[in-house]
Amino acid sequence: MSKVNIDLHSALKEHFGFNAFKGLQESVIESLLDGKNTFVIMPTGGGKSLCYQLPALMQEGTAIIVSPLIALMKNQVDAIRGISNEEGIAHVLNSSLNKTEIKRVKQDIVDGVTKLLYVAPESLTKEENVEFLRSVKISFMAIDEAHCISEWGHDFRPEYRNLRHIIQRIDDTIPIIGLTATATPKVQEDILKNLGIHDAVTFKASFNRPNLYYEVRPKTKQVDSDIIRFVKQNEGKSGIIYCLSRKRVEELAQVLQVNGVKALPYHAGLDAKTRVKHQDMFLMEDVDVIVATIAFGMGIDKPDVRFVIHHDIPKSIESYYQETGRAGRDGGEGHCLAYYSYKDIEKLEKFMSGKPVAEQEIGHALLQEVVAFAETSISRRKFILHYFGEEYDNETGEGGDMDDNVRYPKKQTEAQDDAVL
Ligand code: ADP
Ligand code: MG
Repeated sequence: MSKVNIDLHSALKEHFGFNAFKGLQESVIESLLDGKNTFVIMPTGGGKSLCYQLPALMQEGTAIIVSPLIALMKNQVDAIRGISNEEGIAHVLNSSLNKTEIKRVKQDIVDGVTKLLYVAPESLTKEENVEFLRSVKISFMAIDEAHCISEWGHDFRPEYRNLRHIIQRIDDTIPIIGLTATATPKVQEDILKNLGIHDAVTFKASFNRPNLYYEVRPKTKQVDSDIIRFVKQNEGKSGIIYCLSRKRVEELAQVLQVNGVKALPYHAGLDAKTRVKHQDMFLMEDVDVIVATIAFGMGIDKPDVRFVIHHDIPKSIESYYQETGRAGRDGGEGHCLAYYSYKDIEKLEKFMSGKPVAEQEIGHALLQEVVAFAETSISRRKFILHYFGEEYDNETGEGGDMDDNVRYPKKQTEAQDDAVL
């Protein structure tokens, strides 16, 4: 092992208490410490945060971490402060801070105490912040959830589009690291282009989640009782049920409660206090099931979620993959059950009809993939991995029999129909 490797391992142990790097982490960190632009594509739970946290802690100056959600940033800042004795080691810079708090953050950065500064893209565009950051030592710039830059991603945020320009103004000599769990080639291209890092060294991990079992059931009028039966068969286990609308979330949570299931709703229509309370009760296992819109989940790190149910089919394969990816993060069982009817696809198409044409076209193309996935008779895992540009062989690959189509092949005639199509 070279000196750098030894230093990296001891730094990992010292700062995080971990004995080994996970997957590609070490190579990613070496690349970044080498001053190279770096691009990381790793599934959710793969350990992307550490790829910028550790080098930030090891280097002089402050690393700027761009992240789309305040809750996500706060979780990370709390975690970093928890492992360090220095409160100022990590800060969030956002619009909710008062003057005194902002002064404190800036002072800690000037004093060289702050190693990680988390910012939302809209705070980063503020002139006074750009001016300040130009005047201090920045180690590198990390763009987390970098798919937010692309209209082909599942969470497009226009403010991400300005990042390149701002980075250039702050310091155009520092390395940039982009990180995402979205593996589609289109999104990756957009990220490299928009961040202006075509020269980036790219690290892509496999997206296979061998411990997840994928299943799609036809959606009938009995969907609620079907879900209740499933949840009761999995009593005491943690699970997330995704619904498209707030109304459906409320109704289904109630139906489950009436049936003796410890369940709570979660959606953006609930006030912040209630949302935090419900989320915490789920994390603390005071309730087993959270019924939610897609507002729930980003950055939630509950390792032992045993099932993710989609009451309504998601609007893209990426969304499906992200949402199901919250199951089985500890490597244990994770059952992913989605209900599908073509009517729901039509509903999703209708939602888009008021949007700009370009957006509609993208939305339609993404939905067609969802239809193909739901109706396929080939292995669901193979389908998903193929979508992400990965070759997969069910005979030799891990988790080869972990989906309904492999375990219970459709009748020959149906399968043949598919082949003809
Ligand atoms: P991602 O951002 O890729 O979804 P996270 O950065 O949130 O993943 O990490 C997922 C989990 O993996 C976290 O609980 C983190 O503490 C853990 N983790 C990361 N790196 C390591 C490691 N080298 N050893 C053990 N656990 C790790
Ligand atoms: Mg992450």
